[in-house]
This record gives sequence, C-alpha cells and structure tokens, in this order.
Amino acid sequence: MTTDTPRTMGQQFGRRSWAEPWKIKMVEPLNMTTRDQRVRAMAEAGYNTFLLRSEDVYIDLLTDSGTSAMSDRQWAGLLLGDEAYAGSRNFYHLEEVVRRIYGYRHVLPTHQGRGAEHLISRAAIQPGQRVPGNMYFTTTRLHQELAGGHFVDVIIDEAHDPASQHLFKGNIDLGKLEQAIQAVGPAQVAYVSLAATVNMAGGQPVSMANAREVRALCHRHGVRLFLDATRLMENAFFIQEREPGYEGRSIAEIAAEFCGYADGAWMSAKKDSLVNIGGWLAVNDDELYQELCNLVVVYEGLHTYGGMAGRDMEAMAIGIEESAREDHLRSRIGQVRYLGELLLDWGVPIVQPVGGHAIFLDARRFYPQLPQDAFPAQTLAAELYLDSGVRSMERGIASAGRDPKTGDHHRPALELTRLTIPRRVYTQAHMDVVAESVKAVYDRREEARGLRMVFEPKYLRFFQARFEPLCD
Ligand SMILES: *Cc1c(COP(=O)(O)O)cnc(C)c1O
Repeated sequence: MTTDTPRTMGQQFGRRSWAEPWKIKMVEPLNMTTRDQRVRAMAEAGYNTFLLRSEDVYIDLLTDSGTSAMSDRQWAGLLLGDEAYAGSRNFYHLEEVVRRIYGYRHVLPTHQGRGAEHLISRAAIQPGQRVPGNMYFTTTRLHQELAGGHFVDVIIDEAHDPASQHLFKGNIDLGKLEQAIQAVGPAQVAYVSLAATVNMAGGQPVSMANAREVRALCHRHGVRLFLDATRLMENAFFIQEREPGYEGRSIAEIAAEFCGYADGAWMSAKKDSLVNIGGWLAVNDDELYQELCNLVVVYEGLHTYGGMAGRDMEAMAIGIEESAREDHLRSRIGQVRYLGELLLDWGVPIVQPVGGHAIFLDARRFYPQLPQDAFPAQTLAAELYLDSGVRSMERGIASAGRDPKTGDHHRPALELTRLTIPRRVYTQAHMDVVAESVKAVYDRREEARGLRMVFEPKYLRFFQARFEPLCD
C-alpha cells in the first residue's frame, strides 16, 4: 500500500492513466446559475434537493438512479421496440439475458426496483415475520413493513463506522443473523434480504465468502435468501479486486456464482444496468413464481411487460450485457475513487473505503456542532448547492424516517451526504469542480446552523419534506 493517489501514481511510476472506454457522441448543455438564483431556488425547494428543478442544477449528483448515459447500441435498441401487449420479443430477449447473466429461472419485468420489492414482499412475507437484512434500504424496508414484516439489521458493526477500513463492509454478521433466526424460530423468518453492494453503508461490497456462509446458514434453518442485485456488478468488481482467489475470474463468472447463493433477486435496472427506467424480479421456485404472476398483473402489468415498454426492455437487455464489462466497471468505479482521493487529500471527512457508486460525506464529522435533530446531512446538501449548483442528497436522519411503533425518528449511526456519480455522464473535470466546491463548504463549516423540518410526508419523507434554516 502506498498513500499515493491514482493521479500522482501514474506520473511517479511511469504508468499510464486510465480513461473512459467510450467517446462522446452527443452532448447536453448545462445551465450555470448565479448565487442569487440558487438562494431563491433553494428556499423555494424547502432546502430539500429533491424539490429543486433540474434546470437550476449545474452538476447533478442527486442519484445514480436512471441517470446513466445509454450507449449508441441501447439507443438503437429503442427502435427495435416490439410494443405488443403480450409476448413482446424484447421480453424474451430480456429474459434470456437475465437467465444467462444472473442465472435465475423465472423472470418478471417491473417498472423499477420498488415494483419488484412490492411483489416479493407481498408474496414472501406473512404479517409478523422478521426480515433480517444487511442494513436497510428505504424502499426495501418500507415494502417489507407494509407487507407486515419487521426488518432486523444484521450487517457487521464496521458498516456503521464511517472510518472503518474493512474491505467488505456490506457483509452480514453471521452471529447476528443466527441470533435473529433463533430469537423467533425459522418459521417466523420470511427470508434473509441480502443487498450487494449496500447503498446506505456507502456502496460497500459483500464478499463471496460471506454470501456462501450466509447461504449455508439459511440452508441449515430452511430460510430463503433473496438478493437485492441493484449494484451486483459493482460488487463483483470489488470481489475481483479484493478477494483472494477471484483475481483471475471474470465479472460475469463472479456475478453468476454470487447469484447462485440466493433463491431469487430483485433489481433496480436504473443503477447497474445503464437504463433510465426498469427493473425485474427473478426467482427459481415454481410456486412462488405463480404467486408473483398473480400479483404482477394487478400491480405492474402482464408478466411479459410488467409496466415497461418493449423498447425499454430492449435497452435494458443490452445495458445488462454492457454492465458486466470489466473496462466499464474499472472506469466507473475509478471515477468515483478519483473524486474520493481529491477530498481525502484535503482532509474532508468521507466514508472509507470509497464504495462503488458514490462519495458519502460524513456530516457528523463535517459539522460536529450540529445535533442530529438539526439535520446535518440535509444542511450540507443545501450548502453545497448554494455554493456551486452541485446537487447531492441526504442519507441520514431524514432518510431513516420514523419508527412505526414509537413514532420517534430513527436515528441512524450514519449521517451522510451522498455525491452520487451517474454512469458515463460526467468527466473528470466535473469531478474537480465538485471537489473544489465541497472544499469551499468545508472551509466555512463553522458557520452552519442546521435546519428544522416544517413539512413531513407520511412515507419516504426525505423525498418531499420541507425545511427551514435554524438561526442562532
Ligand atoms: C434504488 C434502489 C432500490 C429501489 O429501486 P427503484 O428503481 O428506485 O425503485 C432498491 N434497492 C437498492 C439498493 C437501490 O439502490
């Protein structure tokens, strides 16, 4: 290990730099705004970056969801849309690709990831059952709860520590999982919910060894294991890079082995799969599939389109193939790391190691003067926008919502502001601009006073909540 950054390493050791494995064919002009315009826009948006108009945003790092640039092949795929109500040829193409790359037998398209989460939660959870998982995700947990389940966090402790350098911070703690199952008995456990990578922990991967051990534990108890495969390709890249025995294996081989440990998976294709909309649910069990077919026609659409246009299924099938390419993943994760290294060089507190899809600023260390109830991460997202028009999002107390029983805030250990990097959209120069803006906000950190929530929606409040600045 050296402390050199990827930027200086190339020069020092005479190595060559990496570059994106694509060139730009079409561009979308960006809007620059003045500070006055941003002050007005932020107030109108209730200090919630989700409520900004994208026209008022310069560099949009709100999310990597549905924000990828499609390839020329994917755009060409749109013209091959077969918009038949039933049995579209694009569905059969998608089905073939999901079966080949993720390895599950039955495939149902859904309009996006949460559509799939809704169906699997309804079909596989009995009211009162527990659903152990490696840290919650907002929509995942909500659908589990709406189906009557109780989420139990069984991720390793290191995941809650933004400074821990553990290489697989997404791993499940086998002791915690065993305890969660023993506490109520296996019959009261709906399934184990395994996400790879773990979004809320900072895009942190799960090791192959952990997936294998979790599988064995589930098998011993007769409990099913389902995978949130949203960023599985990024997870596979980390396994290839970090896990002994996997250096020489291809991303596709690693992904296939990993998926093989789960009984099925749901997918938000808006992430790994390089499309603007889409998702799927895939399982091996015939009976469960039949039940899911009953639900999909009620909530999404016929089982051969599930809420998607034929053309979008075609773009998704092509995007899945592209997402498993090593050169793509190397530059995708390389760009995220580039931004992370710049911030680390300047002493800005971020979650380490840098994960796959985003840089997570540690708002607790950024604003030690702010109590969590003053929404430090929300404050940081607002300040960053005011400084430069860069849009980020909160992943802290606002995102965590309330405990359905007590009605009090969930107060997560992690209070983070996420700079999420869309795939194939921005250049390294954009990353420089972002880093310099974060640095400017960090230099003024003592001036921050925090926010209070003045409007709170019932579900997934972070999307639509409104805030006001607190004064001294
Ligand atoms: C985005 C996401 C989802 C939900 O998918 P949508 O397509 O946004 O509905 C589920 N799990 C994870 C890990 C995600 O990042």
